[in-house]
Amino acid sequence: MSKENYNAYEHAQAQFNSVADKIGLDETTCELLRQPIREYHFTIPVKMDDGSTKVFKAFRIQHNDARGPAKGGIRFHPNETVDTIRALSMWMTWKCAVVDIPLGGGKGGVICDPRTMSEREQEQLCRGYIRQLAKNIGPNIDVPAPDVMTNAKHMLWMLDEYETIVGGRYPGVITGKPVGMGGSLGRTEATGFGVVFVLREALKALDIDITKTTASIQGFGNVAQYAALLYTQLGGKVIAISCWDNNDKTAYTFKNADGLDIEKLRSITDSFGTVDKDKAKEMGCEILPGDAWIEQEVDILIPAALENQIKADNVHKISEKVKVLAEAANGPTTPEADEVIKERGIFVIPDFLANAGGVTCSYFEQVQCNMNYFWEKEEVMQKLDTKMTAAFKAVYDLHKEQDLYMRDAAYVISINRVAEAVKKRGWV
Ligand code: GLU
Repeated sequence: MSKENYNAYEHAQAQFNSVADKIGLDETTCELLRQPIREYHFTIPVKMDDGSTKVFKAFRIQHNDARGPAKGGIRFHPNETVDTIRALSMWMTWKCAVVDIPLGGGKGGVICDPRTMSEREQEQLCRGYIRQLAKNIGPNIDVPAPDVMTNAKHMLWMLDEYETIVGGRYPGVITGKPVGMGGSLGRTEATGFGVVFVLREALKALDIDITKTTASIQGFGNVAQYAALLYTQLGGKVIAISCWDNNDKTAYTFKNADGLDIEKLRSITDSFGTVDKDKAKEMGCEILPGDAWIEQEVDILIPAALENQIKADNVHKISEKVKVLAEAANGPTTPEADEVIKERGIFVIPDFLANAGGVTCSYFEQVQCNMNYFWEKEEVMQKLDTKMTAAFKAVYDLHKEQDLYMRDAAYVISINRVAEAVKKRGWV
């Protein structure tokens, strides 16, 4: 979703290069890990409701599968680019490694706008995606999942198409399926809840009482909504959220200095995360420009939308009060903005650690599918909490021991794990 000169792939590679350099990783391993191992670029023709046929451009990119099958979501977005998918596939590799689950990194995307497509058109697009890719994915090859603007319904259409092609039942080929159809309880909540599990640990480590904190969140899609819900349940106060308004084609920030009622706000939000402005006003929300979320005087900022949101030109708007940046989105902070955040001493929970709850629960979904035995929600959530807490502690301890920036500490752990896997396999 490149805007201006931003390129997510260059962003991901710059982060990798800097840490690979710090840990003295050999050049061959660097070369292997600096780019995806495999890429699939294809087109999907879809018969539209008006009788025309539209051709969509799509990708699936596998960055690395040394630690296990490639894993990662499929995004539907009009501004999708191949370089964004490359970056996201790389971040998936580090994400699975930091929570220490036996999966690699992959990502997919289709250049499309599901907000303007009928159910039938979306179903055809999902089925077309799998038809082009069925040979190159599989429970032991590459396992897709939901991401930006894709959901459980899309995953089930994709599963059905895969099973029709391959002949048999293969629930482990895709995660984020509906509960009762091979999905795991808690998967919908997992990414947002995972963000708050690590945020809770960060606040404990920083000796900050969560009940005395306030937060501002960018985005009000699946991840943001569940993060906001759990954070408020733990006693925090969300005073602002911003979201894209698909009718006005612009973003707004919804603010209530006394704290937003998240459940109520969710009830006036559509399935793509657009909040109804009139109803929000009735709820007592102040409506501000989309970028106002970043300048709120809060303790915690949670970017939970897209990449490239905190940049050189707005990072200075972050209030002096902000102590923690919990990156719920993938790649929200550009390298230039990251330097400023580092200098200011804001505590960062880096994206691939903060938002690893989704893929961790996807892994649990695979395990449950393999056993054909599904756990109670409490068990899923407890296992998710254990995994996220352990990953946070490992990163935090390294950050303390070696005086490393939190993002670098997370990268050191992940890169070392993946490098070890490629070396042990004899790939380099
Ligand atoms: N799309 C999510 C992510 O970026 C989840 C991926 C998955 O469950 O495989 O982490």
